Amino acid sequence: MARSCNAKPKPEREFEPKHRKCLMCRKAFASTHPGERICRKCKGLSIWREGDGILGGRAA
Ligand SMILES: [Zn+2]
Repeated sequence: MARSCNAKPKPEREFEPKHRKCLMCRKAFASTHPGERICRKCKGLSIWREGDGILGGRAA
């Protein structure tokens, strides 16, 4: 890794948290990454998660 100056490392993808509408409850929530379209509450309530879960079948 090449360390240049003392600048703090940037994330691979810059994404600023912004408010989106949850696809489940349609309420505005703070999306923390580009793929996040459902608020945490709905994620907690719903069985499905992003990719893992039903499709993955992983037993944590
Ligand atoms: Zn929601």
